[in-house]
This record gives sequence, C-alpha cells and structure tokens, in this order.
Amino acid sequence: MVELVFLGSGGGRFQMVGQYFKTGGFRIHAGVKVHVDPGPGALLLTHQYGLNPLDLSGIIVTHCHPDHYTDTEVLIEAMTKHSTKKRGVLICSRSVIEGVGDYGPAVSRYHQRKPEKVIIMEPGDKFQLEDLEIESVVAKHSDPTTFGIIFHTDSGAIGYTSDTQYFEEMTKYYEGMRILIANVTRPLSMRIPWHLCSEDLIKILAAAKPELAVMIHMGMLFLEHEPAREATRIKTATGVETIPGQAGLRINMGEEIKITRPPKQPTLEEYIRPRVENFFGAE
Ligand SMILES: [Zn+2]
Ligand SMILES: [Zn+2]
Repeated sequence: MVELVFLGSGGGRFQMVGQYFKTGGFRIHAGVKVHVDPGPGALLLTHQYGLNPLDLSGIIVTHCHPDHYTDTEVLIEAMTKHSTKKRGVLICSRSVIEGVGDYGPAVSRYHQRKPEKVIIMEPGDKFQLEDLEIESVVAKHSDPTTFGIIFHTDSGAIGYTSDTQYFEEMTKYYEGMRILIANVTRPLSMRIPWHLCSEDLIKILAAAKPELAVMIHMGMLFLEHEPAREATRIKTATGVETIPGQAGLRINMGEEIKITRPPKQPTLEEYIRPRVENFFGAE
C-alpha cells in the first residue's frame, strides 16, 4: 500500500503569495517517506495535517522556483533529527544544489552537508531509496534543469510532471502510470509558456490513460474556473478519473485506489494549542 498526502494544490507566483490553494507540495509514503517540492507552508501544513516531519527519509526538489523549494532547509533539519544525525537523501535539480544561470543555489552549503546523501538528478537517472525507485524524466521549464518523476512502487507507478510545458514525447513517459500528478497552472486552453493548461492535460491523459489524475499547482485563474468543474470536464473528455488536489487530500494505492478528502481544514492553532496553552494561559 502506498499513500500520497497532498499539502497544497496551488502554484505560480500569485497563488504562492495569496495561499488560496496552499503550496506545501506532497508526501509519498511507500515504506519510506519522502516529501516532494516543499514550497511555502510545507512545514506548517505537515503539522496541520497530522504528519511528522521527523520521519522523512528523503526530500525531492524538482527545480529552483520558490513555490517548490522554500521549506527545504527546515525539512532537512527535521529529516536529520534537528541536524544531529547524518541521515536521509536530498534529491534535487542541479540549479537547487549548484546554481545554474540566474537560478539558485537554493540550499545552503551548511544544509547540503547534513543529509547522508545529496543527489543531483538528471533526466534518465534512477535512485533506489529502500522500497521506492525514483526515476527522473525530462521536463521543459524555464529552469532548464527541472525534472519530472516516476515513482516505482510495489503497488504500481506514480508519475509527477513537475512544472513543464506540453511536449509530445512526455505522454510516453507517463504511460503505464496508475496515478498521474499533473502541475496544471492554467485552466481551459489558457496556455502560458513553460506550464501545462487543462487542454494539455487532456492530451496527456488521452494518450497515457492512468487510472487517476490529480491536478495540482493550479494558478490564480482556477479561482474563476473552479478546479472541480475543470476536473469533471477533463474526465468527460478523456474517460480518465480526474480530481483536483487539495491540502489534506490522501490517496491510498493498493489493489484499489482510495481517495479521502479532509473532513474540514484544521487550523494550525488546533494543532498547536494543546501544546502551548499552559505557557500562554488557557482561555
Ligand atoms: Zn511552480
Ligand atoms: Zn517552476
């Protein structure tokens, strides 16, 4: 059984600053637990949705834009047990670790020394992390070192496009996936350079035919074109079950795929209060 826990479904500069859909990335729990693209809020959302940042064995940052990397250093401190143990793996684009052109580096030299391993992923690379195989595929994005991911698990494969524009070969990478997590920045055919729009996702799903598609990294125009309605439209066009991501959404992939939405959005205070009220005085 593999579990995905989403800590946001927003992306792009305006959503990142506005935080309507949150930008904490997502976690994949095979046996091993990995946080992918921890943007702003990743640490707080981890707590808010009852997860433990200390139990991570891996952190993946697919490229050097802040909606994907800002909480990386704090999660490295968590993964390394408050920087007391050399443990875990940090898997990043070259831009995040070394800097490429105007991009990065985004992780300090101090934090790069903390994990047991630091891997720079190039398309085609594979890395086995206990029971999870992480394969990198091409993405075409403004950070030229951006990569997409295929997670090979005991329960089947999960694809993650990361930020990319549509290109014909990409549908081949995502054939045979049980779940495809797609960064769909724009609704309808409101395409912008370096990103996918809903029409692009329709093309990918029509060819790749996963069992389930999850839309994340949705930009501001999804406030006007509701994600649920777009997802229904995409499902009708492709026959592929398509859902919008959401902070707190959990997907369990065993023989069947089970989707659990959070009953309500817990506030951070609900998590924190039992721990701190004795310090500040109960109401
Ligand atoms: Zn982005
Ligand atoms: Zn980006």
